[in-house]
Amino acid sequence: MRRNMKNTEVCNECGRNVNLGSGLFVNRVLDMDDRKTRKENNKPFPKGNYICRECEEKLNDLRW
Ligand SMILES: [Zn+2]
Repeated sequence: MRRNMKNTEVCNECGRNVNLGSGLFVNRVLDMDDRKTRKENNKPFPKGNYICRECEEKLNDLRW
């Protein structure tokens, strides 16, 4: 039995995989927003439950 969790293990900013073994797994950040909120925020990949480190840093640059 395989779960479909893998589909949500992507960065919701850049769409890259952040699953175990992807290289982005270690520094990934769990995004607490739900899918609806992400769409409202114009996230390019609203299905992703995570933000990779690189995008997190970019977002912080924009916000602050
Ligand atoms: Zn990213």
